[in-house]
Amino acid sequence: MIKKYISTAIITILLFVGCKKDSAVGPQGGKDDGSFIAYESNFLNGLWKLSPDWATSEGFHKYDSLLLIPNDQSRDKLLTYAKVQLDSLSRFEVTTLNDANKIDYHMMENELESIEWSIQQLKAYQWDPSSYNVTGTFAYILNEHYAPLAKRLRNFYEKMANVPAYYKEAEKQIKDPVSDLTELAIDQHLGGLSVFEKDFEDSLKKSTIPQPEQKQMLDRAKTTADAVQAFAEWLKNLKNDHPRSFRLGKDLYADKFKYDIQSESSPQQIYNAAVERKKDIHHAMATISKKLWPKYFGTKPMPSDSLDMIAMVIDTLSAKHAEPDKFQSTIENTLPKLTAFVKAKDLLTLDPSKPLVVRKEPGYMAGVAGASMSSPGPYDKDGNSYFNVGSLNGWPPEKAESYLREYNDYTLQILCMHEAIPGHYVQLVDANKAPSLIKSVFGNTTMIEGWAVYSEEMMLDAGYDNDEPEMRLMWYKWHLRSVCNAILDYGVHCQNMSKQDALKLLMHEAFQQQAEADGKWKRVRETSVQLDSYFTGYKEIIDLREAYKKKMGDKYKLKDFNEKFLSYGSAPVMYIKEAMLAKEVVAPSGS
Ligand code: ZN
Ligand code: ZN
Repeated sequence: MIKKYISTAIITILLFVGCKKDSAVGPQGGKDDGSFIAYESNFLNGLWKLSPDWATSEGFHKYDSLLLIPNDQSRDKLLTYAKVQLDSLSRFEVTTLNDANKIDYHMMENELESIEWSIQQLKAYQWDPSSYNVTGTFAYILNEHYAPLAKRLRNFYEKMANVPAYYKEAEKQIKDPVSDLTELAIDQHLGGLSVFEKDFEDSLKKSTIPQPEQKQMLDRAKTTADAVQAFAEWLKNLKNDHPRSFRLGKDLYADKFKYDIQSESSPQQIYNAAVERKKDIHHAMATISKKLWPKYFGTKPMPSDSLDMIAMVIDTLSAKHAEPDKFQSTIENTLPKLTAFVKAKDLLTLDPSKPLVVRKEPGYMAGVAGASMSSPGPYDKDGNSYFNVGSLNGWPPEKAESYLREYNDYTLQILCMHEAIPGHYVQLVDANKAPSLIKSVFGNTTMIEGWAVYSEEMMLDAGYDNDEPEMRLMWYKWHLRSVCNAILDYGVHCQNMSKQDALKLLMHEAFQQQAEADGKWKRVRETSVQLDSYFTGYKEIIDLREAYKKKMGDKYKLKDFNEKFLSYGSAPVMYIKEAMLAKEVVAPSGS
């Protein structure tokens, strides 16, 4: 998964905005593509004023020093902004815009409606304490080298001024929170303390800021750390007799799916398709496992239950894995192999000018995923792409073993395809090349995750690892994760799926180790709809490729499809489809 584009995080940040007076933003002059582009730029400038944390994370640094208090007044300002912009947007005739601008129009409209819905219907600011974590933005300001150190440190200092008031307001807003999200918030706030207690001071020492000023800055960092810690303590001691259920429920789920996923299908249709896909994969896995049986088990009789038989083959293959201290270096060694394969098979064009840095997962990200990508925002396209790898240091041996069997020699390569090449890293580098900021800023998670999942299968279909049946079998197991994520998410949030049924689905039907299944059960209680994005996006891209093949006939080439698809940026697949299947194939043009 990817940190930066998760739309719940975006919404979360959006909720904490306000304060500055919004200058009237509207279409200027005519209603053509030119005036639409001018409008887009005003639209974003207005949004950034109201959402400084979001702006910082996208690489727009004018408001780095601001931290807005998450009160009703801030939310009202954002609501007004959404209303005014929806009105301005409606004055453009969408059918007369070019493809790129048409997609932007739909994405802006969706985002504004999503803002209204989040504030008026979802109200996560009342029940999700983890939505108040400020540490991420502070860490970003410290870690990213977009401006001279002294400047970033002074912005950091100014931004800290409001932290105590921020958490005072958070304590006022929170009512009957979800227990799991309260736990998560406590972990994340305590985990992020080092940003104020240590990292800030370390950076100050490297700066040229005069001593007396440094002293003042350190005093405020101490006050800030105290406020963050006090909030975690407040959460720990909160009397929460009627916690809200972690299950989102059918109605809110359907709305959230509409705004976050942006699919032509309904949640129920996606659920049904996932159940079908699971059946087909089980069938294919049984065929491969039967073939591999004699190689690994000789004349030993096969279990009569085919899922048990598949599980035994997978179990044997899973024993091939890296040692805990070699986990990160194995990832580093896999990346050049993937690059060479993509080039050899001419799957798409890679950009060597944007290197990928593998690093240990920063503390403030801990607790969500073992591996993730962070890519530069649309405003600092020269920023680093990071492959964040969670450390296994200090894990009990059995837990580490279980984790490493899950990320064995086969699946670790697939993980690298998914996160890096040709998955997230490649897609996001391409997306940053698209001229439209709107598509980068409102990046569609479903398209992004769908591409990563699609790209794994594309590598195998091109003959990766010499078409070894072992690799294919392990990919199926890996792919079942996306499929079962969709079944699990809908099941848990809309169908009251029990923990027992969830673990049975993950461990028996998706062949996951205990540690992975436990982690997923935790994640589905802390998030909603996001787990649905992997399979939904994958399915939509596969469907689109089939339709595109038909349309192009003899002229179809996989590389053309991949590059054309990526050229639209991180847009919802349904709008890319509309453009790619239009009578005339026109490359997206400048917006
Ligand atoms: Zn992903
Ligand atoms: Zn082992």
